[in-house]
Amino acid sequence: MEKMFVLDGDQRAILETVTRFVRDEVTPRAASLDANKNPLDCFSWEIVEKAHELGIRTMTLDEQWGGLGVDSLTTAMVVEELAKADLGVSVIMAQTFKIAQIMQRALNPAQRKRVLPGFAADPRGLLAIGNTEPGNASDRYLSFPVPFATSAERAGGGWVVNGMKQFISNGNRASHYLVAVQTDRQKTMADGATCFLLERGQPGFTIGRVHDKMGERLANNAELVFQDCFVPDANVVGEVGKFRAVYADFLPASNAYAGASVLGVAVALYEKAVEWAKMRVQGGKPIIEHDGIRAQLGEMRMLIDASRSYIHRAAWLADHREQGWDATLATLPKAMAAQVAWKIATWCMEIHGGHGYMKEFGVEKLVRDAAAFLHSDGVNRTLFLKAAKDMFR
Ligand SMILES: Cc1cc2nc3c(=O)[nH]c(=O)nc-3n(C[C@H](O)[C@H](O)[C@H](O)COP(=O)(O)OP(=O)(O)OC[C@H]3O[C@@H](n4cnc5c(N)ncnc54)[C@H](O)[C@@H]3O)c2cc1C
Repeated sequence: MEKMFVLDGDQRAILETVTRFVRDEVTPRAASLDANKNPLDCFSWEIVEKAHELGIRTMTLDEQWGGLGVDSLTTAMVVEELAKADLGVSVIMAQTFKIAQIMQRALNPAQRKRVLPGFAADPRGLLAIGNTEPGNASDRYLSFPVPFATSAERAGGGWVVNGMKQFISNGNRASHYLVAVQTDRQKTMADGATCFLLERGQPGFTIGRVHDKMGERLANNAELVFQDCFVPDANVVGEVGKFRAVYADFLPASNAYAGASVLGVAVALYEKAVEWAKMRVQGGKPIIEHDGIRAQLGEMRMLIDASRSYIHRAAWLADHREQGWDATLATLPKAMAAQVAWKIATWCMEIHGGHGYMKEFGVEKLVRDAAAFLHSDGVNRTLFLKAAKDMFR
């Protein structure tokens, strides 16, 4: 699984499994789950358990931990394939794929032995990362001017954590969490925060609100609440005060996965637009025969192909950093894919005319989903600023 532009046999087999999974398990349920009013009812354990049965849930774990050892490029392809069927399902899995990658590289040997076999065996094992707080969000991508509000005091053999995180993907569903906690309040989040490994049900760690989102509804996002939650030293990931290094060193492909998620939505919108343009007759012929529509479809195709190439390059270089990785590949591919998806969403609606605005035609769900990644994994503007910071140090 080393090449960028040619699918090898393993990649083909994995993608075929994923295509069958979404056809049989996700596509038939996505619209009705999305329509539920209560966000808790939008989530399906059956889908997660089926992904487990097929080996998809654990595919980024190395073989020694029961996974397939799938590389970052193939993971990005899988994430896009999932998102073509439903963005929420793709996000549930993409978070789990990427955090599993971080965990098996960043955890120490004792932590790996303690956590990974249980995660691999649990059909409902999902993973989450808790960084964002009500008062500390974009800052962690940019200037790090302040400490995180979620902080810990030293206490016999560990830390006592108080505070909260918000908007966390898989927040109320995960079995394991990586959480950024301020362990030195005299410093900023840049050099005073530590990455803690937490488990569901740990005393003092509860779930707050489950957010009622506009789109990406098959995934849940929630608040994580810490009230005198004791975390032993054995659960410190990496070094105390170095939470940033855990993500920067061990997961450069995160942004590419986020881009692949929203790109899958763009592809679904494009395919819907083509289907409609072939079927809808106005001016005496199918609208796909009108030049304006044809040119728009051509441009949509160009945007999707260019965005996918960018994502694939970033994902491949994440595993081969010595071949020309640069820091902008950890910020810009998602920003581009989100812009592409948003543009294609408006064009897909336009091509559908008034029908695009009527829920029964299915464009509306995709438009809500396409909006998610204008903000998720960093607001696009923030990511452009971060890229510029990396470019002009
Ligand atoms: C669907 C979804 C899933 C998410 N999942 C997770 C998750 O799993 N884990 C997690 O930790 N977080 C998660 N987040 C949080 C996400 O990363 C934050 O929402 C994001 O970083 C933006 O934070 P904010 O919404 O508070 O915006 P703010 O930081 O308040 O930004 C508001 C606006 O101000 C702009 N801005 C901010 N600072 C500057 C500046 N210095 N200069 C110029 N403009 C600036 C921003 O670009 C934006 O336009 C998720 C969010 C969403 C929507």
